[in-house]
Amino acid sequence: MSGLKAMRFSDPPNANTWALQDPLTGFANPADFLRQLSALGPGKATRRILLVLDIDRYRAIKNSLGYSHSDELLRAVAARLQSALPSKTLIGHLGEDAFAVVVCDIDDESKARALALSLFVVFQSPFTIGGKEIRGRATTGKRISISVSIGIATVTADPEVCLRNANTALCCAKDIGPAQIIMYDRAMREGNARWLQLETELRGAVDASKTAMAYQPIVNLLNGQVDGHEALMRWSSKTHGVISPSDFIPMAERAGIAPLLDKWAISQAISHLQRCPQAGFVNVNVSACSLLENSWIDETLARFQASGLRAGQLRLEITETALLNQESTVHANLIRLSRGGLPVILDDFGTGYSSLSHLRLFPIVGIKIDRSFVAQIDGDGREGRIVSAMTRLALDLGMSVTAEGVENELQHTTLIATGCGFAQGYFYGFPRLF
Ligand code: C2E
Ligand code: CA
Ligand code: CA
Repeated sequence: MSGLKAMRFSDPPNANTWALQDPLTGFANPADFLRQLSALGPGKATRRILLVLDIDRYRAIKNSLGYSHSDELLRAVAARLQSALPSKTLIGHLGEDAFAVVVCDIDDESKARALALSLFVVFQSPFTIGGKEIRGRATTGKRISISVSIGIATVTADPEVCLRNANTALCCAKDIGPAQIIMYDRAMREGNARWLQLETELRGAVDASKTAMAYQPIVNLLNGQVDGHEALMRWSSKTHGVISPSDFIPMAERAGIAPLLDKWAISQAISHLQRCPQAGFVNVNVSACSLLENSWIDETLARFQASGLRAGQLRLEITETALLNQESTVHANLIRLSRGGLPVILDDFGTGYSSLSHLRLFPIVGIKIDRSFVAQIDGDGREGRIVSAMTRLALDLGMSVTAEGVENELQHTTLIATGCGFAQGYFYGFPRLF
Protein backbone atom coordinates (compact mmCIF):
# COMPACT_ATOMS: atom_id res chain seq x y z
CA MET A 1 0.00 0.00 0.00
CA SER A 2 1.30 3.40 -0.88
CA GLY A 3 -0.27 5.10 2.12
CA LEU A 4 -2.38 7.32 -0.14
CA LYS A 5 -5.62 8.51 1.38
CA ALA A 6 -8.78 9.05 -0.61
CA MET A 7 -9.98 12.62 -0.46
CA ARG A 8 -13.65 12.79 0.38
CA PHE A 9 -16.26 15.49 0.76
CA SER A 10 -17.59 13.65 3.75
CA ASP A 11 -16.86 10.36 5.39
CA PRO A 12 -19.78 7.95 5.11
CA PRO A 13 -21.57 7.52 8.43
CA ASN A 14 -20.99 4.18 10.16
CA ALA A 15 -19.25 2.80 7.12
CA ASN A 16 -16.25 0.56 7.01
CA THR A 17 -14.01 3.02 5.18
CA TRP A 18 -11.56 0.34 4.13
CA ALA A 19 -14.26 -1.64 2.29
CA LEU A 20 -15.17 1.51 0.31
CA GLN A 21 -11.62 2.24 -0.71
CA ASP A 22 -9.75 0.72 -3.57
CA PRO A 23 -6.86 -1.09 -1.82
CA LEU A 24 -4.33 -0.28 -4.56
CA THR A 25 -4.76 3.49 -4.69
CA GLY A 26 -6.71 4.37 -1.56
CA PHE A 27 -9.29 6.22 -3.70
CA ALA A 28 -13.03 5.53 -3.59
CA ASN A 29 -13.91 2.22 -5.26
CA PRO A 30 -16.52 2.31 -8.07
CA ALA A 31 -19.53 1.69 -5.82
CA ASP A 32 -18.44 4.29 -3.30
CA PHE A 33 -17.57 6.76 -6.04
CA LEU A 34 -21.09 6.47 -7.48
CA ARG A 35 -22.60 6.83 -4.01
CA GLN A 36 -20.60 10.00 -3.29
CA LEU A 37 -21.31 11.39 -6.76
CA SER A 38 -25.02 10.87 -6.19
CA ALA A 39 -24.82 12.58 -2.78
CA LEU A 40 -23.07 15.58 -4.35
CA GLY A 41 -25.62 16.14 -7.10
CA PRO A 42 -25.19 18.59 -9.99
CA GLY A 43 -24.41 21.65 -7.84
CA LYS A 44 -26.52 24.81 -7.61
CA ALA A 45 -24.73 28.05 -8.46
CA THR A 46 -21.92 26.58 -10.58
CA ARG A 47 -21.60 23.34 -12.46
CA ARG A 48 -19.75 20.29 -11.29
CA ILE A 49 -17.93 18.29 -13.89
CA LEU A 50 -16.78 14.72 -14.05
CA LEU A 51 -13.53 13.72 -15.70
CA VAL A 52 -12.83 10.10 -16.56
CA LEU A 53 -9.30 9.31 -17.60
CA ASP A 54 -7.22 6.31 -18.46
CA ILE A 55 -3.66 5.59 -19.50
CA ASP A 56 -3.05 5.31 -23.23
CA ARG A 57 -1.82 1.91 -24.43
CA TYR A 58 -2.03 0.60 -20.88
CA ARG A 59 -2.23 -3.06 -22.00
CA ALA A 60 1.04 -2.79 -23.84
CA ILE A 61 2.70 -0.93 -20.97
CA LYS A 62 1.50 -3.53 -18.47
CA ASN A 63 2.72 -6.28 -20.73
CA SER A 64 6.09 -4.68 -20.93
CA LEU A 65 6.45 -3.84 -17.21
CA GLY A 66 5.01 -7.04 -15.75
CA TYR A 67 2.23 -7.28 -13.15
CA SER A 68 4.03 -6.12 -9.99
CA HIS A 69 5.57 -3.10 -11.67
CA SER A 70 2.32 -2.16 -13.38
CA ASP A 71 0.68 -1.92 -9.93
CA GLU A 72 3.54 0.34 -8.91
CA LEU A 73 2.85 2.49 -11.96
CA LEU A 74 -0.88 2.73 -11.05
CA ARG A 75 0.01 3.83 -7.52
CA ALA A 76 2.39 6.46 -8.92
CA VAL A 77 -0.29 7.70 -11.32
CA ALA A 78 -2.78 7.89 -8.43
CA ALA A 79 -0.29 9.90 -6.35
CA ARG A 80 0.30 12.35 -9.21
CA LEU A 81 -3.41 12.75 -9.78
CA GLN A 82 -4.03 13.49 -6.13
CA SER A 83 -1.20 15.99 -5.88
CA ALA A 84 -2.47 17.83 -8.97
CA LEU A 85 -6.03 18.33 -7.74
CA PRO A 86 -7.41 20.55 -5.00
CA SER A 87 -7.77 18.85 -1.63
CA LYS A 88 -11.24 17.44 -1.01
CA THR A 89 -11.61 16.53 -4.67
CA LEU A 90 -13.61 13.34 -5.06
CA ILE A 91 -11.42 10.79 -6.87
CA GLY A 92 -12.43 7.24 -7.74
CA HIS A 93 -10.44 4.30 -9.05
CA LEU A 94 -12.86 2.68 -11.47
CA GLY A 95 -10.67 -0.31 -12.27
CA GLU A 96 -7.22 -1.05 -13.61
CA ASP A 97 -5.99 2.17 -15.30
CA ALA A 98 -9.32 4.08 -15.16
CA PHE A 99 -9.81 6.99 -12.76
CA ALA A 100 -12.66 9.45 -12.26
CA VAL A 101 -12.56 12.90 -10.74
CA VAL A 102 -15.34 15.33 -9.75
CA VAL A 103 -14.45 19.00 -9.82
CA CYS A 104 -16.61 21.85 -8.47
CA ASP A 105 -17.01 25.48 -9.53
CA ILE A 106 -16.45 25.01 -13.23
CA ASP A 107 -18.73 27.39 -15.06
CA ASP A 108 -17.62 26.94 -18.64
CA GLU A 109 -16.14 24.44 -21.03
CA SER A 110 -12.80 26.25 -21.35
CA LYS A 111 -12.18 25.92 -17.60
CA ALA A 112 -12.90 22.20 -17.79
CA ARG A 113 -10.44 21.86 -20.67
CA ALA A 114 -7.82 23.91 -18.85
CA LEU A 115 -8.08 21.60 -15.87
CA ALA A 116 -7.76 18.52 -18.09
CA LEU A 117 -4.71 20.09 -19.78
CA SER A 118 -3.13 20.68 -16.38
CA LEU A 119 -3.48 16.93 -15.75
CA PHE A 120 -1.70 16.18 -19.03
CA VAL A 121 1.24 18.25 -17.81
CA VAL A 122 1.32 16.35 -14.53
CA PHE A 123 1.84 13.06 -16.39
CA GLN A 124 4.55 14.44 -18.66
CA SER A 125 7.47 14.09 -16.26
CA PRO A 126 9.04 10.63 -16.07
CA PHE A 127 7.85 7.87 -13.76
CA THR A 128 10.40 5.86 -11.82
CA ILE A 129 9.13 2.30 -11.67
CA GLY A 130 11.15 -0.63 -10.34
CA GLY A 131 14.06 1.74 -9.84
CA LYS A 132 14.07 2.76 -13.51
CA GLU A 133 12.78 5.77 -15.31
CA ILE A 134 10.06 4.89 -17.77
CA ARG A 135 9.52 7.99 -19.75
CA GLY A 136 11.05 7.27 -23.11
CA ARG A 137 12.37 3.83 -22.23
CA ALA A 138 10.73 1.00 -20.29
CA THR A 139 12.46 -1.59 -18.14
CA THR A 140 12.47 -4.00 -21.11
CA GLY A 141 14.22 -1.45 -23.26
CA LYS A 142 11.05 -0.91 -25.28
CA ARG A 143 10.04 2.70 -25.95
CA ILE A 144 7.06 3.73 -23.81
CA SER A 145 5.81 7.20 -23.15
CA ILE A 146 2.96 7.68 -20.73
CA SER A 147 -0.01 9.81 -21.57
CA VAL A 148 -3.66 9.83 -20.60
CA SER A 149 -6.93 10.36 -22.46
CA ILE A 150 -9.73 12.28 -20.79
CA GLY A 151 -13.52 12.29 -21.22
CA ILE A 152 -15.51 15.11 -19.58
CA ALA A 153 -19.23 15.40 -18.74
CA THR A 154 -21.36 17.71 -16.63
CA VAL A 155 -22.53 16.16 -13.36
CA THR A 156 -26.25 15.42 -13.58
CA ALA A 157 -28.71 14.19 -10.98
CA ASP A 158 -28.28 10.59 -12.12
CA PRO A 159 -24.68 9.48 -11.35
CA GLU A 160 -24.89 6.45 -13.66
CA VAL A 161 -25.89 8.63 -16.64
CA CYS A 162 -23.18 11.13 -15.83
CA LEU A 163 -20.51 8.40 -15.64
CA ARG A 164 -21.80 6.89 -18.89
CA ASN A 165 -21.60 10.27 -20.63
CA ALA A 166 -18.02 10.86 -19.48
CA ASN A 167 -17.11 7.32 -20.59
CA THR A 168 -18.68 7.93 -24.01
CA ALA A 169 -16.54 11.05 -24.34
CA LEU A 170 -13.48 9.03 -23.25
CA CYS A 171 -14.22 6.39 -25.93
CA CYS A 172 -14.40 9.15 -28.54
CA ALA A 173 -11.08 10.50 -27.28
CA LYS A 174 -9.55 7.01 -27.62
CA ASP A 175 -10.89 6.67 -31.16
CA ILE A 176 -9.06 9.86 -32.17
CA GLY A 177 -5.70 8.92 -30.70
CA PRO A 178 -3.59 9.14 -27.56
CA ALA A 179 -3.58 12.21 -25.26
CA GLN A 180 -6.98 13.61 -26.27
CA ILE A 181 -9.55 15.55 -24.25
CA ILE A 182 -13.19 15.28 -25.33
CA MET A 183 -16.25 16.92 -23.80
CA TYR A 184 -19.51 14.99 -23.91
CA ASP A 185 -22.16 16.70 -26.04
CA ARG A 186 -25.58 16.15 -27.54
CA ALA A 187 -24.16 15.09 -30.90
CA MET A 188 -22.39 12.27 -29.15
CA ARG A 189 -25.63 11.16 -27.55
CA GLU A 190 -27.36 11.17 -30.94
CA GLY A 191 -24.39 9.39 -32.48
CA ASN A 192 -24.68 6.79 -29.75
CA ALA A 193 -28.33 6.22 -30.53
CA ARG A 194 -27.45 5.69 -34.19
CA TRP A 195 -24.74 3.18 -33.31
CA LEU A 196 -27.14 1.38 -31.01
CA GLN A 197 -29.61 1.04 -33.86
CA LEU A 198 -26.85 -0.25 -36.14
CA GLU A 199 -25.73 -2.76 -33.53
CA THR A 200 -29.23 -4.17 -33.28
CA GLU A 201 -29.44 -4.35 -37.05
CA LEU A 202 -26.05 -6.10 -37.33
CA ARG A 203 -27.06 -8.70 -34.75
CA GLY A 204 -30.23 -9.39 -36.77
CA ALA A 205 -28.27 -9.49 -40.05
CA VAL A 206 -25.91 -12.19 -38.75
CA ASP A 207 -28.82 -14.22 -37.37
CA ALA A 208 -30.61 -13.99 -40.71
CA SER A 209 -27.41 -14.57 -42.76
CA LYS A 210 -27.72 -11.12 -44.35
CA THR A 211 -23.97 -10.60 -44.17
CA ALA A 212 -21.85 -12.02 -46.99
CA MET A 213 -18.27 -13.17 -47.57
CA ALA A 214 -15.91 -11.90 -50.25
CA TYR A 215 -12.72 -13.81 -51.11
CA GLN A 216 -9.47 -12.14 -52.18
CA PRO A 217 -6.68 -14.20 -53.82
CA ILE A 218 -3.35 -14.79 -52.09
CA VAL A 219 -0.59 -15.35 -54.64
CA ASN A 220 2.50 -17.54 -54.26
CA LEU A 221 5.36 -15.27 -55.41
CA LEU A 222 7.56 -18.22 -56.36
CA ASN A 223 5.30 -19.38 -59.18
CA GLY A 224 2.58 -16.74 -59.52
CA GLN A 225 -0.17 -19.24 -58.67
CA VAL A 226 -3.15 -18.41 -56.45
CA ASP A 227 -2.56 -20.69 -53.44
CA GLY A 228 -5.40 -19.44 -51.27
CA HIS A 229 -7.82 -16.65 -50.36
CA GLU A 230 -8.65 -14.32 -47.50
CA ALA A 231 -12.32 -14.25 -46.48
CA LEU A 232 -13.58 -10.69 -45.88
CA MET A 233 -17.01 -9.96 -44.49
CA ARG A 234 -19.47 -7.63 -46.23
CA TRP A 235 -22.59 -6.03 -44.80
CA SER A 236 -25.12 -3.73 -46.35
CA SER A 237 -27.30 -2.17 -43.67
CA LYS A 238 -30.97 -1.52 -44.52
CA THR A 239 -30.77 1.97 -43.04
CA HIS A 240 -27.15 3.03 -43.68
CA GLY A 241 -26.16 1.22 -46.87
CA VAL A 242 -22.80 -0.52 -47.31
CA ILE A 243 -20.68 -0.33 -44.15
CA SER A 244 -16.97 -1.15 -44.13
CA PRO A 245 -15.84 -4.03 -41.89
CA SER A 246 -13.28 -1.58 -40.48
CA ASP A 247 -16.33 0.15 -38.94
CA PHE A 248 -18.72 -2.68 -38.18
CA ILE A 249 -16.16 -5.16 -36.75
CA PRO A 250 -15.04 -2.75 -33.95
CA MET A 251 -18.73 -2.01 -33.35
CA ALA A 252 -19.44 -5.76 -33.06
CA GLU A 253 -16.50 -6.05 -30.65
CA ARG A 254 -17.92 -3.28 -28.45
CA ALA A 255 -21.38 -4.84 -28.57
CA GLY A 256 -20.00 -8.28 -27.62
CA ILE A 257 -21.23 -9.95 -30.83
CA ALA A 258 -17.85 -10.34 -32.56
CA PRO A 259 -17.60 -14.06 -31.58
CA LEU A 260 -20.99 -14.56 -33.25
CA LEU A 261 -19.75 -12.90 -36.46
CA ASP A 262 -16.50 -14.89 -36.37
CA LYS A 263 -18.44 -18.14 -35.94
CA TRP A 264 -20.58 -17.24 -38.93
CA ALA A 265 -17.48 -16.33 -41.01
CA ILE A 266 -15.86 -19.68 -40.20
CA SER A 267 -19.01 -21.61 -41.18
CA GLN A 268 -19.17 -19.69 -44.46
CA ALA A 269 -15.48 -20.35 -45.20
CA ILE A 270 -15.90 -24.07 -44.46
CA SER A 271 -18.91 -24.31 -46.81
CA HIS A 272 -16.95 -22.36 -49.45
CA LEU A 273 -14.00 -24.78 -49.19
CA GLN A 274 -16.33 -27.78 -49.38
CA ARG A 275 -17.98 -26.37 -52.54
CA CYS A 276 -14.75 -25.09 -54.14
CA PRO A 277 -11.76 -27.22 -53.09
CA GLN A 278 -9.75 -25.48 -55.86
CA ALA A 279 -9.86 -22.28 -53.72
CA GLY A 280 -6.72 -23.55 -51.93
CA PHE A 281 -6.49 -22.47 -48.29
CA VAL A 282 -8.88 -19.87 -46.85
CA ASN A 283 -7.84 -17.39 -44.16
CA VAL A 284 -10.57 -16.13 -41.83
CA ASN A 285 -10.12 -13.04 -39.61
CA VAL A 286 -10.83 -13.64 -35.93
CA SER A 287 -11.42 -10.94 -33.31
CA ALA A 288 -9.39 -10.90 -30.11
CA CYS A 289 -12.48 -11.47 -27.94
CA SER A 290 -13.31 -14.81 -29.64
CA LEU A 291 -9.94 -16.19 -28.54
CA LEU A 292 -10.85 -15.61 -24.90
CA GLU A 293 -14.02 -17.74 -25.06
CA ASN A 294 -13.38 -21.42 -24.43
CA SER A 295 -16.82 -22.31 -25.82
CA TRP A 296 -15.95 -20.44 -29.06
CA ILE A 297 -12.76 -22.53 -29.38
CA ASP A 298 -14.68 -25.79 -28.66
CA GLU A 299 -17.36 -25.01 -31.26
CA THR A 300 -14.85 -23.89 -33.89
CA LEU A 301 -12.77 -27.05 -33.49
CA ALA A 302 -15.89 -29.26 -33.54
CA ARG A 303 -17.20 -27.51 -36.66
CA PHE A 304 -13.82 -27.89 -38.42
CA GLN A 305 -13.40 -31.53 -37.42
CA ALA A 306 -16.90 -32.39 -38.68
CA SER A 307 -16.19 -30.63 -42.02
CA GLY A 308 -13.84 -33.27 -43.42
CA LEU A 309 -11.35 -30.54 -44.45
CA ARG A 310 -7.61 -31.17 -44.16
CA ALA A 311 -5.47 -29.49 -41.48
CA GLY A 312 -4.23 -26.16 -42.84
CA GLN A 313 -7.04 -25.71 -45.41
CA LEU A 314 -8.66 -23.22 -43.07
CA ARG A 315 -6.38 -20.74 -41.29
CA LEU A 316 -7.06 -18.00 -38.78
CA GLU A 317 -5.77 -14.43 -38.98
CA ILE A 318 -5.39 -12.61 -35.67
CA THR A 319 -3.82 -9.24 -34.81
CA GLU A 320 -1.06 -8.45 -32.32
CA THR A 321 -3.65 -6.84 -30.01
CA ALA A 322 -5.15 -10.29 -29.48
CA LEU A 323 -1.86 -11.44 -27.94
CA LEU A 324 -1.65 -8.59 -25.43
CA ASN A 325 -4.82 -9.45 -23.55
CA GLN A 326 -4.88 -12.31 -21.02
CA GLU A 327 -1.84 -13.88 -22.58
CA SER A 328 -2.03 -17.29 -20.90
CA THR A 329 -5.64 -17.94 -22.01
CA VAL A 330 -4.92 -16.79 -25.55
CA HIS A 331 -1.71 -18.85 -25.62
CA ALA A 332 -3.52 -22.03 -24.50
CA ASN A 333 -6.38 -21.47 -26.95
CA LEU A 334 -4.07 -20.80 -29.90
CA ILE A 335 -2.26 -24.06 -29.14
CA ARG A 336 -5.60 -25.91 -29.12
CA LEU A 337 -6.60 -24.37 -32.46
CA SER A 338 -3.22 -25.12 -34.08
CA ARG A 339 -3.19 -28.70 -32.84
CA GLY A 340 -6.75 -29.08 -34.08
CA GLY A 341 -5.63 -28.26 -37.65
CA LEU A 342 -6.27 -24.48 -37.70
CA PRO A 343 -2.91 -22.69 -38.13
CA VAL A 344 -2.68 -19.11 -36.90
CA ILE A 345 -1.31 -16.18 -38.95
CA LEU A 346 -0.44 -12.79 -37.49
CA ASP A 347 -2.20 -9.99 -39.40
CA ASP A 348 -1.18 -6.33 -39.84
CA PHE A 349 2.36 -7.15 -38.73
CA GLY A 350 4.48 -4.12 -37.81
CA THR A 351 1.58 -1.96 -36.58
CA GLY A 352 1.31 -3.37 -33.04
CA TYR A 353 3.56 -3.57 -30.03
CA SER A 354 4.95 -7.09 -30.20
CA SER A 355 8.42 -7.97 -31.30
CA LEU A 356 9.09 -11.08 -33.34
CA SER A 357 10.89 -12.62 -30.35
CA HIS A 358 7.73 -12.14 -28.27
CA LEU A 359 5.72 -13.78 -31.05
CA ARG A 360 7.88 -16.88 -30.91
CA LEU A 361 6.14 -17.73 -27.63
CA PHE A 362 2.88 -18.17 -29.55
CA PRO A 363 2.13 -20.91 -32.09
CA ILE A 364 2.18 -18.59 -35.11
CA VAL A 365 3.00 -20.06 -38.52
CA GLY A 366 3.11 -16.88 -40.55
CA ILE A 367 2.94 -13.10 -40.61
CA LYS A 368 1.18 -10.69 -42.93
CA ILE A 369 3.17 -7.50 -43.42
CA ASP A 370 0.82 -4.57 -43.06
CA ARG A 371 -0.03 -2.70 -46.23
CA SER A 372 1.27 0.60 -44.79
CA PHE A 373 4.83 -0.77 -45.29
CA VAL A 374 4.06 -2.14 -48.74
CA ALA A 375 2.43 1.15 -49.81
CA GLN A 376 5.68 2.99 -49.16
CA ILE A 377 7.74 0.86 -51.53
CA ASP A 378 8.41 3.62 -54.03
CA GLY A 379 11.78 2.86 -55.52
CA ASP A 380 14.01 4.78 -53.07
CA GLY A 381 14.72 1.48 -51.33
CA ARG A 382 14.10 2.54 -47.72
CA GLU A 383 10.73 0.87 -47.09
CA GLY A 384 11.85 -2.02 -49.24
CA ARG A 385 14.61 -2.55 -46.68
CA ILE A 386 12.11 -2.55 -43.76
CA VAL A 387 9.96 -5.14 -45.55
CA SER A 388 13.08 -7.10 -46.36
CA ALA A 389 14.27 -7.05 -42.70
CA MET A 390 10.84 -8.17 -41.44
CA THR A 391 10.79 -10.93 -44.05
CA ARG A 392 14.25 -12.22 -43.15
CA LEU A 393 13.44 -12.29 -39.43
CA ALA A 394 10.16 -14.12 -39.96
CA LEU A 395 11.74 -16.63 -42.35
CA ASP A 396 14.57 -17.25 -39.85
CA LEU A 397 11.90 -18.08 -37.28
CA GLY A 398 10.34 -20.56 -39.70
CA MET A 399 7.27 -18.42 -40.42
CA SER A 400 5.71 -17.78 -43.82
CA VAL A 401 5.47 -14.17 -45.01
CA THR A 402 2.57 -12.58 -46.90
CA ALA A 403 2.65 -8.94 -48.02
CA GLU A 404 -0.71 -7.15 -47.95
CA GLY A 405 -2.05 -4.35 -50.11
CA VAL A 406 0.15 -4.87 -53.20
CA GLU A 407 -1.13 -2.43 -55.81
CA ASN A 408 1.57 -2.13 -58.46
CA GLU A 409 4.33 -3.89 -60.33
CA LEU A 410 7.16 -2.13 -58.46
CA GLN A 411 5.84 -3.40 -55.13
CA HIS A 412 5.40 -6.87 -56.64
CA THR A 413 8.96 -7.11 -57.98
CA THR A 414 10.48 -5.56 -54.82
CA LEU A 415 8.68 -8.17 -52.72
CA ILE A 416 9.99 -11.00 -54.88
CA ALA A 417 13.52 -9.58 -54.45
CA THR A 418 13.12 -9.50 -50.63
CA GLY A 419 12.26 -13.21 -50.52
CA CYS A 420 8.66 -12.65 -49.43
CA GLY A 421 6.71 -15.85 -50.19
CA PHE A 422 3.13 -14.64 -50.69
CA ALA A 423 1.31 -11.47 -51.64
CA GLN A 424 -2.21 -10.12 -51.73
CA GLY A 425 -3.69 -6.91 -53.07
CA TYR A 426 -5.57 -5.19 -55.87
CA PHE A 427 -2.61 -5.87 -58.19
CA TYR A 428 -3.60 -9.58 -58.19
CA GLY A 429 -7.33 -9.38 -57.54
CA PHE A 430 -10.08 -7.59 -55.61
CA PRO A 431 -12.14 -9.34 -52.93
CA ARG A 432 -15.05 -11.01 -54.81
CA LEU A 433 -18.38 -12.16 -53.45
CA PHE A 434 -19.29 -15.84 -53.93
P1 C2E B 1 -7.52 -6.93 -43.04
O1 C2E B 1 -7.66 -8.25 -42.39
O2 C2E B 1 -6.18 -6.27 -42.97
O3 C2E B 1 -7.99 -7.12 -44.54
C1 C2E B 1 -7.37 -6.53 -45.64
C2 C2E B 1 -8.13 -5.28 -46.04
O4 C2E B 1 -7.41 -4.61 -47.07
C3 C2E B 1 -9.48 -5.60 -46.63
O5 C2E B 1 -10.34 -4.52 -46.29
C4 C2E B 1 -9.20 -5.61 -48.12
O6 C2E B 1 -10.35 -5.39 -48.91
C5 C2E B 1 -8.22 -4.47 -48.21
N1 C2E B 1 -7.33 -4.62 -49.35
C6 C2E B 1 -6.94 -5.73 -49.99
N2 C2E B 1 -6.06 -5.45 -50.97
C7 C2E B 1 -5.86 -4.11 -50.92
C8 C2E B 1 -5.04 -3.21 -51.70
O7 C2E B 1 -4.31 -3.59 -52.61
N3 C2E B 1 -5.09 -1.89 -51.34
C9 C2E B 1 -5.89 -1.43 -50.35
N4 C2E B 1 -5.88 -0.14 -50.06
N5 C2E B 1 -6.67 -2.25 -49.60
C10 C2E B 1 -6.64 -3.58 -49.89
P2 C2E B 1 -11.81 -4.77 -45.79
O8 C2E B 1 -12.41 -5.90 -46.55
O9 C2E B 1 -12.49 -3.45 -45.81
O10 C2E B 1 -11.59 -5.26 -44.31
C11 C2E B 1 -11.12 -4.39 -43.33
C12 C2E B 1 -10.79 -5.11 -42.06
O11 C2E B 1 -11.96 -5.62 -41.42
C13 C2E B 1 -9.92 -6.33 -42.28
O12 C2E B 1 -8.59 -5.90 -42.43
C14 C2E B 1 -10.18 -7.12 -41.01
O13 C2E B 1 -9.39 -6.63 -39.96
C15 C2E B 1 -11.62 -6.81 -40.72
N6 C2E B 1 -12.47 -7.90 -41.19
C16 C2E B 1 -12.95 -8.14 -42.44
N7 C2E B 1 -13.70 -9.26 -42.44
C17 C2E B 1 -13.68 -9.76 -41.17
C18 C2E B 1 -14.28 -10.91 -40.52
O14 C2E B 1 -14.95 -11.75 -41.13
N8 C2E B 1 -14.05 -11.06 -39.18
C19 C2E B 1 -13.28 -10.18 -38.49
N9 C2E B 1 -13.10 -10.39 -37.15
N10 C2E B 1 -12.70 -9.11 -39.05
C20 C2E B 1 -12.90 -8.89 -40.38
CA1 CA C 1 -6.74 -10.06 -42.40
CA1 CA D 1 -4.26 -7.01 -42.60
